[in-house]
Amino acid sequence: MADVVDAATRSRMMSGIKGKNTNPELVVRKLLHAYGYRFRLHASNLPGRPDIVLPKYRAIIEVRGCFWHRHKNCKYAVMPKTNRKFWETKLRSNAERDDKTARTLRKRGWQVVVIWECQTRDDQRLQRSIARVLKVLEARRGS
Ligand SMILES: [Zn+2]
Repeated sequence: MADVVDAATRSRMMSGIKGKNTNPELVVRKLLHAYGYRFRLHASNLPGRPDIVLPKYRAIIEVRGCFWHRHKNCKYAVMPKTNRKFWETKLRSNAERDDKTARTLRKRGWQVVVIWECQTRDDQRLQRSIARVLKVLEARRGS
């Protein structure tokens, strides 16, 4: 990723956002903020009330919980053993709604970037996810 901050600063940023009860969305928000991006939160005028909205870039960042939103092939996206039918229906409808919402947003010209919870819980994966977001934002700058 573009080295906007030096290694020491980045290491401080990363350590500042770790912790047992870290909210994945907060982790992403803090990093974006540190990189100088400004955004709106939970924009209720958009389908699905997206988590992080950057109107200037017409970009949306969705931070999704792996269990509730069914991250494919992820160890956190387990299927509960009891009430299986209920959970299958419930979780499938969550994932379908996510897909539908993202499609609608894309049709309206928004770029939707998804970051999964598990990607925020590991430094290297988090760096890669943020790098992906920054790349999207840079590409859309001024377009
Ligand atoms: Zn996951």
